[in-house]
Amino acid sequence: MSKTLHSLRRGWPAASLFLLATTTWCQAAAEVKMEASAEGFIFEKIPAPAINDAGAEARWKLVDGEQDNFSADTAVLADGTVPQNEDDPRANFFLSGTTGGKLVADLGETTEIESVGSYSCHPRERADQLYRLYGSTGTAGAFKIAPPAGSDPKQFGWTLLATVDTRSASQGKGGRVGVEIGGERSRGVGRFRYLLFDIAPPVKAGATSNTFFSEIDVVAAGAKETLRLHSNKKVVREYETKDGKYQFVVDASQAPDMVPWVEKELIPMCEEWYPKLNAMLPSKGYEGPEKFSLTFKSDMPDGVPAYAAGDGLSLSADFFRREKDREAKGCVVHEMVHVVQNYGYARQVNRHPKDTPVWVTEGIADYVRWFLYEPESKGAEITEGNIGSARYDGSYRITANFFHYIAETYDPRIIPEMNAACREGRYDEELWKKWTGKPLQELGADWLAAQRKRLHLRH
Ligand SMILES: [Zn+2]
Repeated sequence: MSKTLHSLRRGWPAASLFLLATTTWCQAAAEVKMEASAEGFIFEKIPAPAINDAGAEARWKLVDGEQDNFSADTAVLADGTVPQNEDDPRANFFLSGTTGGKLVADLGETTEIESVGSYSCHPRERADQLYRLYGSTGTAGAFKIAPPAGSDPKQFGWTLLATVDTRSASQGKGGRVGVEIGGERSRGVGRFRYLLFDIAPPVKAGATSNTFFSEIDVVAAGAKETLRLHSNKKVVREYETKDGKYQFVVDASQAPDMVPWVEKELIPMCEEWYPKLNAMLPSKGYEGPEKFSLTFKSDMPDGVPAYAAGDGLSLSADFFRREKDREAKGCVVHEMVHVVQNYGYARQVNRHPKDTPVWVTEGIADYVRWFLYEPESKGAEITEGNIGSARYDGSYRITANFFHYIAETYDPRIIPEMNAACREGRYDEELWKKWTGKPLQELGADWLAAQRKRLHLRH
């Protein structure tokens, strides 16, 4: 009633109300495509799962029914990743029991939806999807985000958009099943804020009868650039620091699923730390590269998380996916130090450049990473476990710890001085005497003795 009054107040002609009703009727017949795929989430008629869709930003909530104890949280539906194998409960969302349930996505605001995609994965019948999709703007007086169990959602402000049953498409063979409602060349799904998936189990008997949902996508009409898994599209994006001084080119063609993390986590870190690293490691007349690239690779050799070659960083897609909340950013800091070090520069300014030992190059990169970028992680400690084999030239974290000792005991400016010497091709062991008054071997022994003392170990 209030809706009608509202419309009249705005002076809508009666015909508009009629049109509104017609639109609602049309929406009930959104086009539904479904397909089973034997190999990965690659389909012929429907697109691969989306990564940066509106569903990824939505709030997902089970409003009726129960999540199975072995199921992943609803977040797995919107994370832009899919299970790596066919029977992976922790990479899927599924209900328990035999009565199904209702899952709601709140997009935060009313959105013109182009398509809704749902993807599932299981070796047998639980790959099948059986649900009704409803939409709502949430503005109707009768609206209930959680329609009572057993009720018809249409009576609570929801519009039926599609009915999905993939059993004929998959013939119960299992594998990967994909559904697309609406879609690029269709007339879309409609304007809604809320979507409700009224889910039924595809298998009638038994407690283990519910669909393994791997991913649900909600693609807004006119979305900037929808990234999808397994596409052959180039995904290259360029970023720059706020002052426009430094540019970062990210090539995520082999790992488009990493783009949201790149934009939210990695690039802000690069914007802050790349200028800092340049300021931290200066030398006369030298400017660090203004632009470098970061390329995700799906075929890096085993055990190599990343490497720097000239102004290009190669990043292992597997490692970064696994470590994005742990080691990933620190690893990029280490590689960015290599970009700034740029020891090949020695040949431009020195006719007889000396080679810098690898342990020094890597020690500086890890010193910056573990003691300046993330000291709280304590990732380069000398412990009872590693002191037996620790030497100042042990490279990486071990040398980083030695350099930290030098900085603390003598002068933190020794590290940038050492870097400048390396960059100019004049690194020499003799320099240690100039910096500290002691030869390198003696410093190494002093450092180990200090560590033993700290660990309360006998000599
Ligand atoms: Zn390195």
